[in-house]
Amino acid sequence: MKTQDITIIGAGIVGLCSALELQQAGYTVTLIDKADPGQGASYGNAGIISPWSIVPQSLPGLWRKLPGWLMDPNGPVTVRPGYLPRMAYWGLRFLMNGQTKKVRASAAVMRQLVEDCIPLYKNLLANTGAESLIKDAYYVQAFRHAADANLDALDYRIRAEYGANLARINSHELQQLEPALSHDFQAAIVIKDQARLTNPGRLGSVLKDKFLLAGGHLARLHVNAIRPDLQDQWIYEAQGRQYHTGKILLCAGAWSTDLLKNINVKVMLQNERGYHMSFPGLNLQLNHSVMDADMKFVASQMETGLRIAGTAEFDEKDAPINEARATGLAELASSMFPDLDKSQAQPWVGVRPSMPDSLPCIGSVKNHTGLYVAFGHSHYGMMMAPRTAQLITQHIEGKLPDADLRPFNLDRY
Ligand SMILES: Cc1cc2nc3c(=O)[nH]c(=O)nc-3n(C[C@H](O)[C@H](O)[C@H](O)COP(=O)(O)OP(=O)(O)OC[C@H]3O[C@@H](n4cnc5c(N)ncnc54)[C@H](O)[C@@H]3O)c2cc1C
Repeated sequence: MKTQDITIIGAGIVGLCSALELQQAGYTVTLIDKADPGQGASYGNAGIISPWSIVPQSLPGLWRKLPGWLMDPNGPVTVRPGYLPRMAYWGLRFLMNGQTKKVRASAAVMRQLVEDCIPLYKNLLANTGAESLIKDAYYVQAFRHAADANLDALDYRIRAEYGANLARINSHELQQLEPALSHDFQAAIVIKDQARLTNPGRLGSVLKDKFLLAGGHLARLHVNAIRPDLQDQWIYEAQGRQYHTGKILLCAGAWSTDLLKNINVKVMLQNERGYHMSFPGLNLQLNHSVMDADMKFVASQMETGLRIAGTAEFDEKDAPINEARATGLAELASSMFPDLDKSQAQPWVGVRPSMPDSLPCIGSVKNHTGLYVAFGHSHYGMMMAPRTAQLITQHIEGKLPDADLRPFNLDRY
């Protein structure tokens, strides 16, 4: 077995981008997934690709809004009551991260993972025939009360400090930008110089094909356990068999902790389930990613129709779809787009792997030579994946990564 062999467990967007990067660096890469590549959380997201998504989820004053959100059946956050003990400590650590100083510290780190996300995707898609999967776009954050569209709010100030091109527009300008949007929205903040994916699931298939074409190995296996063997190499067990590999890179998103548990590595990762409703057909047209900033969900025009994505639901990873939530999301979509045809609406749920500070885990696993991780990208995994792939590859190669990996330490909590 050559040490240049590496097995990546999990072929979501993080695993796929890492596989391509490691392949380019000369590794013999085997990519494993229990399902089709790119069809986990990486399938159903809102497709926002933004160099300006540098503000973590926990912000000052959020705790004041939480009770109202939790009481509202269509509110942006929900916790299944029986699951509360499993997430209470995480929730506390999450809220503690909402201090201005910590938000600013996270922003500086997040910026390193997203600043080049648009050119990196354009490079990844070059010569695949699927270049149109990424489109330049704005991020329009629309508010029902004009006073709430405030460029002095901390999240917009931070973006501006890093050079984002932001504009506040009134209801008339908003209607010109997005004519399908309800007249209830009185103002918006427009974040320019962004991009959006028009079909995140198809992106996964395109990157998988690119990996296979370059000689990569793909296996459909459900890995049950990983463990070191006697020669600093690794064994993974799947479907009653044992497989040997030089190194393992764990990119199994929200499921990563299940595999780390059996080697006694604990990580403060939480299942933050998100929903989307898709409305097949093209009965209305959107030009940009549009957020209902009051209810915290995002509307995006996909190749297949309109997609409304949002909700932070804390529950087991494999809990069934909460139908009331899905119906509620469709109602919210109608309030945003009065002409929307809801007759064929399709719900989907996926699991964001979330750390309390909104930063992923990227790097080595202490005391486990040859085991690496890249997971925990919460709300930002699509845009952070290409840069994550570069950094973890540099680290695995033994080079000094061109960003400090310490904020991404697995054991920072
Ligand atoms: C509603 C919603 C909207 C979002 N919007 C955006 C957005 O607009 N922009 C953005 O950047 N991010 C967004 N995100 C976040 C983004 O989708 C995630 O951060 C990202 O997809 C995580 O990618 P991943 O590769 O780590 O995980 P996943 O895509 O979940 O991939 C993990 C893979 O590991 C496999 N796996 C797990 N366990 C095993 C095992 N034991 N054996 C074999 N295979 C295994 C799974 O089958 C899966 O394919 C959104 C998420 C949601 C839910």
